[in-house]
Amino acid sequence: MPTPQHFPHSSCRALLLGCVCASLSAAPLAAQRAPSPPIILHAARLLEIETGNMLQPGEILVAGERIQAVGTTVDHPQGSQVIDLGDTTLLPGLIDAHVHLFLHPGAEDLQTVEESVPWRTILAAQAAKADLMAGFTAERDLGTEGAGSASSAIRDAINAGIIPGPRLRVSANAIDILGGHEDAIGFNPAQHVLSNADYANTADEIIAVMREQHKEGSDFAKIYQTGPDKMIDGVLHTPYQYNEAQLAAAVEEAHRLGTYVAVHAMGEPGTLYAAQAGVASIEHATQLSDETMRLMKEKGIFAVPTFTIFEYFAHHRESQDQAASEAAMLDYKIAEFKKQIAFGIPFAVGSDVGPFPHGTQARELTLMVQYGMKPLAVLQADMINGAKLLMWQGQIGELKPGYYADIVAVPGNPLDDISVVERVQFVMKNGVVVRR
Ligand SMILES: [Zn+2]
Repeated sequence: MPTPQHFPHSSCRALLLGCVCASLSAAPLAAQRAPSPPIILHAARLLEIETGNMLQPGEILVAGERIQAVGTTVDHPQGSQVIDLGDTTLLPGLIDAHVHLFLHPGAEDLQTVEESVPWRTILAAQAAKADLMAGFTAERDLGTEGAGSASSAIRDAINAGIIPGPRLRVSANAIDILGGHEDAIGFNPAQHVLSNADYANTADEIIAVMREQHKEGSDFAKIYQTGPDKMIDGVLHTPYQYNEAQLAAAVEEAHRLGTYVAVHAMGEPGTLYAAQAGVASIEHATQLSDETMRLMKEKGIFAVPTFTIFEYFAHHRESQDQAASEAAMLDYKIAEFKKQIAFGIPFAVGSDVGPFPHGTQARELTLMVQYGMKPLAVLQADMINGAKLLMWQGQIGELKPGYYADIVAVPGNPLDDISVVERVQFVMKNGVVVRR
């Protein structure tokens, strides 16, 4: 897995912006902020994610943007500020490994046709804030769906302290074949309605698109690998889009750029081709053959199930037929998920939020427990695997000295009732209290 220093866009551009801003009189507040005194967070409990050990009470000393000490008690340096969070559990900030900041509920397909990119960018800034306030201090954006590289601007504005939001890894548009999963099918061809994705029909075209997206600031590449999906006699059928050689060319180019490929892939044989090619994550991952799961386990390829979007669509389709088909898909997905857990493939937690309201996506953790995983395993998938998948391994996802101070507090004990993560009461990102 590549390390963060391979990602010039998120760090250097923010630095550059920071330098420019600091020299102007209208500099953003964050750039002018004086160093704040150390903060001590105190709560009834603190969960060590790696071990599952619950400290009672729990304290964290935060200095600047980093965690300095963690324990049942920590040093209280002179002049430090103590924040008593009472009967709560301290956790690392939540990570959502699959979001769409540029989507909002309602008319999911037409919003990308009817709304301008500037309008969608303003809504995306609000979505980033809503996610942060819900406790998501880091996210991976899996495609703007027709807003191109506008997600890079959101990421850079957050990094520069201009707008609030999670740490972001962004992909710009997804990559798709002509007539593929997210192409604009079903419109009057004479109107030339544009795809929500960037076209690439061959390995060479995939590479050209990836280079363009990289130039515009993407952190990784998102490829549509399967679709459209159909349930036939209770089994998922989904055509693949790229063969193994084409995906392997994309993975090689991604590695050259110091990054990786994530695929939208619902089922076989597209999921197998993706695993053979060595992608970093398989999004949705509804149907995985034994051979695909074996490769995922061997190569450390993450499955990101995204149950919340499936639940949402099962409850929010207009016709009864559509709702029944979505419900059948969800049932099938739950049964397959139980096989995947038993097989022992690595999971990360991603909700696919956007088509359902931003800030509500912690439900994904609740659903993964409901469908068969233990609460601690889900928290480890979210935070430890999420940090790896977001290329911030060793920087976020645990409460340890030297890590970024991305910290939330939830009521109750998440090991007894995981749904407390849906009621985050306190949020700190990068050492700054953003919700209390
Ligand atoms: Zn998605």
